[in-house]
This record gives sequence, C-alpha cells and structure tokens, in this order.
Amino acid sequence: DHVINRIAAGEVVERPASVVKELVENAIDAGATRVEVATAGGGKSLIRISDNGCGIREPDLALAVERHCTSKLPEDDLSQIGTLGFRGEALASIGSVARLSILSRHAEEPHAWQIAVEGGRRSETVPASHSGGTQIEVRDLFFATPARLKFLRSDRAEATAITEAVKRLALAHPEIRFTLSGSDRTTLDLSAARGESGALERMAQILGAGFRDNAMPIGGEREGVLLSGYAGLPTFNRANSLQQFIFVNGRPLKDPVLAGALRAAYSDVLARDRYPVLALFIDLDPADVDVNVHPAKMEVRFRDPGMIRGLIIGTIRDALAREGF
Ligand code: ADP
Ligand code: MG
Repeated sequence: DHVINRIAAGEVVERPASVVKELVENAIDAGATRVEVATAGGGKSLIRISDNGCGIREPDLALAVERHCTSKLPEDDLSQIGTLGFRGEALASIGSVARLSILSRHAEEPHAWQIAVEGGRRSETVPASHSGGTQIEVRDLFFATPARLKFLRSDRAEATAITEAVKRLALAHPEIRFTLSGSDRTTLDLSAARGESGALERMAQILGAGFRDNAMPIGGEREGVLLSGYAGLPTFNRANSLQQFIFVNGRPLKDPVLAGALRAAYSDVLARDRYPVLALFIDLDPADVDVNVHPAKMEVRFRDPGMIRGLIIGTIRDALAREGF
C-alpha cells in the first residue's frame, strides 16, 4: 500500500507548488473565507496551510489520509462534480512522501483533533487545541523518496512556483482572503473582494493596478457555454504568457486549445511574440468537459473544442471592436 501511494504521489505531487495547490483546493472545498499559506525553503522544508473552513470530524481524520477516501463524490453521477477535489488522493499521496500533520476542529466537535502521517505510517488521532478550521503542515517533502527530491529546483524557483499556484487559485476566488508568506517575508496579501467589482479588484491585485483601466470586460455565450472575465487591451501585453489566466469551471488551466484561441483572437492587433494580460473564465456543463485527463488537472478535454475556440475568438474580437481595435 505504501508503494502504491508513493507511485500515485508521483502523479499528484510533483513539487511543493502541487502540494500547495491540493491543500488550498481542499480549503476552498471546505468553504473557507480565509486561507493562509506559509512556507520555508521553497516549500521543501515546510508548507503550512490554515483555513477557517468546516473542519474535519474526529472519525473522518483517519479516513482523510487514506487513498481514494473522499467526502466529495456525488451519489450517482460522476459528471456532476462540483468540488475541486474528488479523487481522494492528495492527502494519502502527501503522507506517503512527507511528514504530514493535520490539526482540525469541526464545529460539532468539543475540541480539535490531530493526526500525523510520516512516509505512509499513520499515527493515532489525538485530542488537540485549535480554535476552528483546519491547519495542515507538510514537512520535509520527498524525504521518503530521495530520487524525487533531487529533481526539485532551487528554493527560489520552487517558491516562485508556489506564488504562481496561489495566484491562480486566488484569481478564481476573489471572495476568499489569501495570504502567502515565505520564511522571511509576506509575499502576497490579498484582501477579500466581494460583489460585482470583486473579480476585477482581485485581478488588479494580481495582474497589476494598471489592469483596472486597461482591460475590457468579456461576456459571451454559445450553446450554454459561458465566457466571462477581463482581457487586456492590445497595448497591455507582456513578452510571455505568465500573465494569462484561464479557468474552466473554476479550475486554472494551461491548455493548447485555449492558448491557440487567444493567439488567434488578437492576431490582427498584436505582434505574434506579445501576450495580452487576461483572466478569463469558461463555465460549462461538467458533462461537456473531461477534467480527468491527468491527476494534476491542468489540461482538460472538451467535448467540442472547436466550439470553445470559436466562442473565445468571437467574443474577444467583438470586445476589441467595441474598443476601436
Ligand atoms: P479529495 O479532495 O479529492 O476529496 P484529499 O486527499 O485532498 O481528497 O482530501 C481527502 C478528504 O479530506 C476530503 O474529501 C475532505 O473530506 C477532507 N479534507 C481535506 N482537507 C480539508 C480541509 N482543509 N478542510 C476540511 N476537510 C478537508
Ligand atoms: Mg483534495
């Protein structure tokens, strides 16, 4: 079982940033409005995530770290998954390759409980003290798999990847307050931004204050697929695509179909080697998109990629035309 978990861990947990992604997604699924991420050594020596979500009941703590144990599977129809997690693999995988400790207090428990997993070996669940929500600590990532540890990049590079992961999640959830701190400094402090302007506020926090006045609102619909968000004017561009964020049903994606559509949408108004800054959201029936392609879940398979491409190109070109481009 330890071996299977370690193999699975290779797919779900590639680097510290993937641990941060999985744990923050769990906090979001738990309904948190506040998520704190602290790291040391680029996340290799420590990742600590605290949330004010629903917490985990005592009997569920031991289950949460078991492989394929998830509280999130819909009763009947797998295509109607509404949460970010559903595989029940993240905590088991992390526990198999690191020192994992979970401290949680569910509202209906008289006090908090704690459990630890080290290299796949689980401790007893013991009473603990914690005000509410869940705090998860991951120490010494890949200590149990030294070969994987060798593949990690410098602390600085891993810290940058963590920051990018938190930014992606924060863009999709402006209503949640996020903080990210390294061993010596606070690297992100994103206050919650609610209401109609919330999404644009959060984008300005992450993409730069200039985005507020240099972006076009995007709104389009085709066959029940919705496209929304903001796209930079052609003049608000970068030399790479790092400032392009696309979400499908709330999940951040790097997908060649979408990248190609963006390039085509701006092809008449922007040089080929420039990338407009943007944050776009595609929302569609979960049955029309397969997020099950890869456990890291950064790519998807659309049932009708041509239609998605057409929606993106058409909607952005309309917005550009309205702006006089
Ligand atoms: P998944 O998210 O796919 O269900 P995970 O391994 O990430 O699998 O988590 C296992 C289970 O642990 C979740 O289904 C959830 O019940 C519980 N859990 C994990 N993190 C949290 C959290 N921060 N708050 C509340 N429950 C959590
Ligand atoms: Mg999860």
